[in-house]
Amino acid sequence: MTDQQYGLDMINIFSIDVEDWFHILELDSTPDVNKWENLPSRVVTNFPKMLDIFDKAGVKVTCFFLGWIAEKHPKLVKLACNRGHEVASHGYTHQLIYTQTRQEFSRDIQKTKKIIEDITGTAVNGYRAPGFSITRDTMWALEELSMAGYKYDSSIFPAQRGHGYILGADLFPHKISLNGHEILEFPITVANIFNKKICFFGGGYLRLFPYFIIRRMTVKVNKEDRPVIYYIHPREIDAHQPRLTMGTGRRFKSYVNLRSTEKKLKKITGSDNLTTFTDWMNKHKNVFSTDG
Ligand SMILES: [Zn+2]
Repeated sequence: MTDQQYGLDMINIFSIDVEDWFHILELDSTPDVNKWENLPSRVVTNFPKMLDIFDKAGVKVTCFFLGWIAEKHPKLVKLACNRGHEVASHGYTHQLIYTQTRQEFSRDIQKTKKIIEDITGTAVNGYRAPGFSITRDTMWALEELSMAGYKYDSSIFPAQRGHGYILGADLFPHKISLNGHEILEFPITVANIFNKKICFFGGGYLRLFPYFIIRRMTVKVNKEDRPVIYYIHPREIDAHQPRLTMGTGRRFKSYVNLRSTEKKLKKITGSDNLTTFTDWMNKHKNVFSTDG
C-alpha cells in the first residue's frame, strides 16, 4: 500500500547534530575540550557531503551546530545557511546538561547562539541538548532557553536510554510554560512496538535497521498524527573515521553500518516529505495553541 493510499500528508522533520568524530559522549577515551584543537577534523568533509545528499533531494533540514564547531569552521555554518537549511544550536562544548550548573548552562546557550548568529546574521530559534540530556531534574534548562530567546527545543527523549531521558513525556510536539516562560518542545520520536518505545529514526537504530522497517515505523507514527523527527551526525556516513576506545556494546552502537548509512539516507530523503523545525512550526501553529 502506498503512502497516498494511507492518506498520509504529514511533513516530517530532519536534523543533523553537527559535531566531529571525537564528540561521542561519556567515554574514558572522549578527549577533553583543550585537546580538540589538535585532532584531525572529519566534519569538514562529512558535513558538506551530507548536505549534498539533502540538496540533491531538494530537502531542507535543521543543522544543530556545536558552538565550538561553528567557531572553528564558520564556513560550514555559512554553507548550510547559503543552501537554505536552518542553523540551530547544540551547545558550545557538548557537556551533558545535568553535569552543568544552571548558570553554566545559561552562559553556554547564550554564547553558542551569539557565535552562530554573528556568522549567519539570522536569529537562532532552536536548541538540542548533547545526549538529549534534559531530565525531570533539569527542566529549568527549558526556562533558560526561553529566556535566552530560543523558540523551540528538541532534547526530550521519551524512552529509556544512556545519557538522559524522561519516561512518560508527551510524545507529540507541545508547548511548555515554566514560570511564565514559554518554549515549544519537539520530543525525539519513538514508535510503540510490543509495549516498548523505540526510536528507529536516529543514531544506532537508524543505522542498524533496514530502510523498509524505518519506513514502516514512519508510516505508523504518522498515522498517529505525529511527525517523525530524524536525527543524524556527519560521522555516521564516515566508515574511515578514527575510532575511540570503548567497550563492545558501545562500539557496536557507535560504529555499526557506517558504510550503508549514506545509501539509506538517500532513500529516506528521496521518499519522505521532510522539512526544518522552524518551517514545520510555522505550518502547524495550531498544534501549539494549548499548553502541554
Ligand atoms: Zn551531540
